[in-house]
Amino acid sequence: MKLIAGNWKMFKGPEETRAFCGAFEPPEGVEAVLCPPFVSLPAAVESGHTIFAQNVHWADDGAFTGEVSAPMLAELGVAGAIVGHSERRQYFGDTDETVARRTVAALAHGLRVIACVGESLEERESGQMELVLRVQVEAVKDAVGEHDGLVIAYEPVWAIGTGQTATPQQAREAHAFVKSLLDVPVLYGGSVKPENAEELLSQEGVDGALVGGAALDVESFTALCRIAADL
Ligand code: PEP
Repeated sequence: MKLIAGNWKMFKGPEETRAFCGAFEPPEGVEAVLCPPFVSLPAAVESGHTIFAQNVHWADDGAFTGEVSAPMLAELGVAGAIVGHSERRQYFGDTDETVARRTVAALAHGLRVIACVGESLEERESGQMELVLRVQVEAVKDAVGEHDGLVIAYEPVWAIGTGQTATPQQAREAHAFVKSLLDVPVLYGGSVKPENAEELLSQEGVDGALVGGAALDVESFTALCRIAADL
């Protein structure tokens, strides 16, 4: 069964979250996950859908202003967390080390994890894609191994929010490479929308998608879930 996760980024407060969740009816045959901002997590959990946070800290508690811990998310009924999204790496200083620490803490508290990896355009064009993916994936692998609760999201940074998607062949090759390093489900992320989902999701080694922009609209996210369910 494919996993389709919607990363809402910094969109949708509790009211909009309740409206989306009330209207969202995932089809049979797909696992749908919604990832709202922290303040909207209680409203989302109440809806009964599967809910992940967009980040999680490695400590259980402590002097870490602005952070949220794995036990706090678990207490709320949140099922998992995204870690290491490229926006966290780019704007908020997340590193392979902190991503690994977040992953360890989340899994230890029974949360599932979507750990994001991916190369920049410059890295791809200079022939460093495999090196970058190897370093990022091995940081997580060394910390937790092939854990049942772990999923990797391959998100080429140049394809996130740009409308530019990896070709099916680029996705297939990158997923095969990631799986050769760590044998866990691998989601593709980067401008996935209903128009390109079938082609990407039907590639070997593509176990689902992490979706940003197209996950904000209940109709397009439902359409994506339907496409994945029908494959
Ligand atoms: C993301 O935020 O993980 C993402 C892939 O965004 P988009 O689908 O908008 O490219």
